[in-house]
Amino acid sequence: MAKGETDTALRFEGVSKRFGSVRAVDDVSIDIARGSFVALVGASGSGKSTLMKTVNRLVVPDSGRVLLRGEDVASLPPAKLRRRIGYVFQSIGLFPHMTVAENIGIIPRLAGDRIGSDRIAELLELVELDGSYATRMPSELSGGQRQRIGVARALAGDPVLLLLDEPFGALDPVTRDQLGERVRKLHRDLDLTSVMVTHDMAEALLLADRVLVMDGGRVVADEEPRALVNGAGGAVAQGFVAVPRAQAERLAELEI
Ligand code: ADP
Ligand code: MG
Repeated sequence: MAKGETDTALRFEGVSKRFGSVRAVDDVSIDIARGSFVALVGASGSGKSTLMKTVNRLVVPDSGRVLLRGEDVASLPPAKLRRRIGYVFQSIGLFPHMTVAENIGIIPRLAGDRIGSDRIAELLELVELDGSYATRMPSELSGGQRQRIGVARALAGDPVLLLLDEPFGALDPVTRDQLGERVRKLHRDLDLTSVMVTHDMAEALLLADRVLVMDGGRVVADEEPRALVNGAGGAVAQGFVAVPRAQAERLAELEI
C-alpha cells in the first residue's frame, strides 16, 4: 500500500442529517475496511438511504464528515467523486430514451470521458449479458436485465466503492438470488469494497462479511453474520434475524 493510504475504504465520522424534526441519520461513526462486503439492514425510514447518499454528496450532512480512502468527500469534485463510487439504486432506473450502451456510459461521460464499445461489451459480460444488448432500449428488458445494466453502469467508472441501495428489492426471488451471487463474485474479482442496503436480513446474512443494523438514524448493531445468527447484536438486530429463522424452522417442519 502506498504511503498515506489507509486500509479503511470508507469512514463515517459523527455523521448526522435532519429533515425538519426527523433525525434521519443520528451521529453515525463507522469504518469500513477495504475489500469488505457490508450489509446495511433496517426498517423503512431508519436512515439507510440517507446515510448512503452522504457518500456521493446527494445528501450533505449537517455535521460530521465522510472520508473515502482518507479524503473528505466534501473536498472532491462531485463528478470525480461519483466516478469512484458505483451506485446501484432500486428506484432510479435507466434513462428510457437512451440505449443500454448509453446508459452504461453515462457516469464516465459526466466526468468528461467516453467509453468504447469494447468496454461496453466487457461490462455486459461482467453481468452475464451478451454484447447484443448494447443497442437495446430499457423498455425491451426484463426487470432482472435492467438491474444487471444498473450494475454494469455502476462498474463503468472502475469504482473503488460499490454502493447498492436495495438493488434487488423489486425482483423475483430466483433472479434476486442469482444477482446477489453475481455481485458477490464481482466484488471479489474486481477487488471492490461494497455496501449493500437491504431490508432482508436473510440476504444480508448470506452475502455480507459484516452486517450493520440501523434504527431511528443510529447504527444499533455491527456484527458478523455468524455472531448475529448466534444471538449477538441486541434486540432490534435479533428482531430481524428472527424472521428468516422462523421461516427456516417452518420449512424444516415440512420435511418428512
Ligand atoms: P430508509 O432508506 O432506511 O428507508 P431514509 O434514509 O430514506 O430511510 O429516510 C430516513 C428518514 O428521513 C425518513 O423519516 C424519511 O421520511 C426522511 N427523509 C429522507 N429523505 C428526506 C427528504 N429528502 N426530505 C424529507 N425527509 C426525508
Ligand atoms: Mg431507502
